[in-house]
Amino acid sequence: MNHTNYQIENWKHQLQNSIRTREELAKWIHISPEEEAGIQALSHTRWSITPYYASLMDPDDPNCPIRKQVIPSIHEKENRYGMDDYLMFKENRRDEADIRPDAIGRQYKDRIAFTVTDRCGIYCRHCFRKEVVVDQEIQLRFDVDEGIAWISEHPEIRDVLITGGDPLMLSDDKLEYLIRKLREIPHIEMIRFGSRLPVVLPQRITPGLKRVLGGFHRVPIWLNTQVNHPKEITPQLAHAVYDLLSCGVNVGNQMVLLKGINDDDATFKKLHLKLLQARIRPYYVFYCEPAPGIDHFRTSVERGAELIRDNLRGHTTGLAQPMYVLATNIGKIPLMPDYYIQEKTEEHYILKNHRGETTTIPNIPEVE
Ligand SMILES: *Cc1c(COP(=O)(O)O)cnc(C)c1O
Ligand code: SF4
Repeated sequence: MNHTNYQIENWKHQLQNSIRTREELAKWIHISPEEEAGIQALSHTRWSITPYYASLMDPDDPNCPIRKQVIPSIHEKENRYGMDDYLMFKENRRDEADIRPDAIGRQYKDRIAFTVTDRCGIYCRHCFRKEVVVDQEIQLRFDVDEGIAWISEHPEIRDVLITGGDPLMLSDDKLEYLIRKLREIPHIEMIRFGSRLPVVLPQRITPGLKRVLGGFHRVPIWLNTQVNHPKEITPQLAHAVYDLLSCGVNVGNQMVLLKGINDDDATFKKLHLKLLQARIRPYYVFYCEPAPGIDHFRTSVERGAELIRDNLRGHTTGLAQPMYVLATNIGKIPLMPDYYIQEKTEEHYILKNHRGETTTIPNIPEVE
């Protein structure tokens, strides 16, 4: 068997052998009573863990950050603050004059989110799209040709973010078709993918996929993945990223801020440093959105900005700096630590650095 076939079989093999029952999970970890209760109570929702991702779980620690992301929790049934029909709320800018297919999410003039599937490699318990992807309470049509037709009729769209679910769950042939069709549209300047597969199924980055995504082209491909914890940064992930970069695909990270998983100083800092070591550029840190059933993952709004202030900004290279954003129904709102300017007068600014030291620079008027 040659290398190519092995890798292709390997990713399909991973999906076919994913963990979806209590019995299979028990082969990997000592299931805690709370996890037991969660699995029972949430059995009607999708859950699935690739053997690769399961191998990152700590068999003896119920607080393992990998376990918390994929094992159903009874807390998903408690919903004090999440908004029902959250996805519909986020899409509420649709009006009569703005008819578009379900697959097209729009909050900006020049770019859209194009949903091409509701399948994922694993089903994250913290997913803000969980009503569609995990709980399957909302049914939408994710028709690729409908989406492409809409995009080709909207010349103001220059940037297409292909999302899901996880778009790399599509076959190489379907991805090739999608990319080719988008590149045929003259006003499309870039294509982006949002995919967790490099993290949860790095075997998906096969030579065949590299042929589909790779190569020099007028319309480049960018990919943002979702690494939430340093334990997820393995040699396999680093290799998958190297394979993507070496065929021409830029790789960034979109972390979701999750209570008890990555909201402490040490984990947050280590994650961002390790991302650079794996050649991944931190892009966004997202506040855990007010979607239903994920209250137990949510931190305060300020927490993300505090973590950047206390661990990254000034403490380490500017390359490790993500932007902290709240994704809302009117777009993503940046919320950055705002403490640098201590005082501004007619004569000067007093500026503060990450060590708490201050300096004074003159307030110089602009010269005509
Ligand atoms: C997140 C998102 C985008 C992309 O936003 P960037 O800030 O450019 O990464 C585009 N459209 C929608 C609807 C989105 O939710
Ligand atoms: S991979 Fe993305 S879309 Fe899929 S469950 Fe996880 S967060 Fe949601």
